[in-house]
Amino acid sequence: MNKITEPMPESERDNPTPSCSECVHYFITWDTSFPYGCRAMDFKSKRSPHLDVLESSGNPCLMFTLRK
Ligand code: SF4
Repeated sequence: MNKITEPMPESERDNPTPSCSECVHYFITWDTSFPYGCRAMDFKSKRSPHLDVLESSGNPCLMFTLRK
């Protein structure tokens, strides 16, 4: 069975949602209740930190820095 995929909209290509797992500020904590961390904003979360940033500010994370 062939999979039909939609092309990414141009607006998303220009301003992609940051992925914490590709960011230099991302880390895995030792806290099983809050296993995902962001060093740039100094917080831990139950989920990928960029989702908390988006929810609280209404904007995608502006501190994303691509890990090399
Ligand atoms: S700076 Fe933004 S993208 Fe990077 S880990 Fe923190 S929340 Fe995620």
